[in-house]
Amino acid sequence: MNAGDDIGLALAQIQGDMLERIDAALARLADGRYGDCAECGTPIPSQRLRALPFAVRCRECEAAREIEPAARLRRWADERGDVGAKSRRALDAV
Ligand SMILES: [Zn+2]
Repeated sequence: MNAGDDIGLALAQIQGDMLERIDAALARLADGRYGDCAECGTPIPSQRLRALPFAVRCRECEAAREIEPAARLRRWADERGDVGAKSRRALDAV
């Protein structure tokens, strides 16, 4: 496989992902859930929906979701004391 194939495959995956998000947004529109945050239920601001019509979460919930894995890793490192100390320092640097 050459670089052109890799790029073509990556683009096809991105397009497939985008189509799934659009289908999911259309399904939410059909059953009246479109525009409500999937996490907290509050209406997603129209400005965000104009920029990301297939947004599933409000900005706050999306941000919390993105930092959650790092927080979970920090707890994991803390629970391991000295063994996790190196990982903890690496996580704090992020
Ligand atoms: Zn939310």
